[in-house]
Amino acid sequence: MAFISIENLTTRYNTSKGLVHALEDVSFSIENGESIGIAGESACGKSTLGLSIIRMITNGKIYSGKIEFDGKSLLNLSNSNFDNDIRWKEISMVFQGAMNSLDPVFSIEHQFEEVLSQHDFQGDSKKLILDSLASVNLDESVLKKFPHELSGGMKQRVVIAMALILKPKFVIADEPTTALDVLIQAQIVNLFKQLKKDGHSFMIISHDLAVLSEVAEKIGIMYGGRMVEFGDSKDIFLEPKHPYTKGLLESIPVLSKESKPKYIPGIPPNLVNPSEGCRFYDRCPEAMEKCKKDPPKIKTKSGYVLCWLYE
Ligand code: SF4
Repeated sequence: MAFISIENLTTRYNTSKGLVHALEDVSFSIENGESIGIAGESACGKSTLGLSIIRMITNGKIYSGKIEFDGKSLLNLSNSNFDNDIRWKEISMVFQGAMNSLDPVFSIEHQFEEVLSQHDFQGDSKKLILDSLASVNLDESVLKKFPHELSGGMKQRVVIAMALILKPKFVIADEPTTALDVLIQAQIVNLFKQLKKDGHSFMIISHDLAVLSEVAEKIGIMYGGRMVEFGDSKDIFLEPKHPYTKGLLESIPVLSKESKPKYIPGIPPNLVNPSEGCRFYDRCPEAMEKCKKDPPKIKTKSGYVLCWLYE
């Protein structure tokens, strides 16, 4: 049985402009001990996928699909069961932007205590907080500090420690290295590798494919609310199938090459009431007439691709 299995997950937001089809028919699964990286450009549905799994969608809802986690069907649980048994205890989330996740007017210690009281923790909270800080290589000295007294890397470690505090099996990390300089990024990537060895599984959401290649065994590429390609990390990087995946990989600068990195012309699709067909159609160098119909899901070596080219 897969550790986490998502089938045809569809989430939409209600906005004044109409229904935003943020996530459509997204499916993937990972095994125990594996981690998955989710890549794609802004507004492609990456964060909505994470928020759907942890059931924190606001101004919208999950319309259909299944989320099976460690033998439990998460969408069948009542809100109180999910709150009491799953959120933060089994699945937690590192939200995007460490500075935005921490409250500037409270000390770090107060914010840790708040997480524990929200989840009705009874026991030695100080020990738990110190253990959690130690797991991200921080010590007691940060507890009396306020967020503005910490560096960007330390704040990111604090929010990761808060996500780990109740020892969840699965942690969703949304853009954990964005806005950090490259040295701190490397520290955070090494931290994730260490935490994986300690038994945590991650879903890392990032537009930075290099970060994902370091940490994740599986990769899901998202475009326009759909997961257009999914498979083993090495297959996605060495034998990409979807034209969007190929474009993403070709846009990474290679220092040893004289040629400039390529870019994908055009803009992301409007997800308010999108029309039928492949959502990459307007930007795809290989688009065909039949791509105006929804693309088929084709099995690949280790996953699938959503594209008419492989029919
Ligand atoms: Fe391009 Fe067609 Fe494949 Fe879409 S389905 S990525 S338009 S070839």
